Amino acid sequence: MSDFEGLKALVTGGASGIGLATAELLASRGAQVAVLDLDPTSVEKPLLGYQADVTDDDSVRRAVAAAVADLGGLDVLINNAGIGAQGTVEDNDDEVWHRVLDVNVVGMVRTARAALPHLRKSSHATIVNTCSIAATAGLPMRALYSASKGAVLSLTLAMAADHVREGIRVNCVNPGTVDTPWVGRLLDAATDPAAERAALEARQPTGRLVTASEVAGAVAYLASPLSGATTGTALAVDGGMQGL
Ligand code: NAD
Repeated sequence: MSDFEGLKALVTGGASGIGLATAELLASRGAQVAVLDLDPTSVEKPLLGYQADVTDDDSVRRAVAAAVADLGGLDVLINNAGIGAQGTVEDNDDEVWHRVLDVNVVGMVRTARAALPHLRKSSHATIVNTCSIAATAGLPMRALYSASKGAVLSLTLAMAADHVREGIRVNCVNPGTVDTPWVGRLLDAATDPAAERAALEARQPTGRLVTASEVAGAVAYLASPLSGATTGTALAVDGGMQGL
């Protein structure tokens, strides 16, 4: 299939996990793909790597401008860079709250702000934000992370409304627990990583974690012309966690 033939895409947080799987899938379907990440040195051809920190507006603007110049335009923005946080409201101080909201929420705003002037020139402009089931599920020990993803969900809906008349679609995916290096790091930090993984899997209706490529498939659908009439939606990719 070549759903993305001729399209140019930018994926933030594209050097690892869901972002990398998405970048690779879009490239395999014909897109030219730029990856923006803190450390893009591991990114391999045909993906193009650009260094930026989404908490630094100047670095985002520079990286987006360089990527758009190299790609020759921009049709698809995948806003995916994000970090986790565990605990109740009492477990993290203001500094941690500001940091997580800065990366997970304002980071997406910065990238969108830099990308929108270019997306307006595209006849197939889409933005897909990586949200989470944490936005709506009320998960324990995830107060800060859930608040950040709740903001991503609201941001997605508001941006969809703001930009629908100029032909720019904005959607998000809500992954459940996805087997990425991030989750690997959490498991590695546990006293018994194998037992922790088994417990995590047992909590999934499917009995297994979601894969990064399964999330990438949903992102690709929302980013492709196949979903041309869809904007302002959140697509769950959670192995049935919220629905069952
Ligand atoms: P990951 O750690 O494997 O990848 C995240 C990438 O984002 C990394 O390459 C990292 O360098 C990059 N990044 C982090 N901070 C950045 C910054 N300030 N500037 C630029 N890049 C930055 O994680 P993942 O599991 O693939 O998560 C990707 C997205 O998916 C995140 O938004 C996360 O909230 C979301 N998500 C993950 C899960 C899960 O279970 N893994 C579930 C729901 C949602």
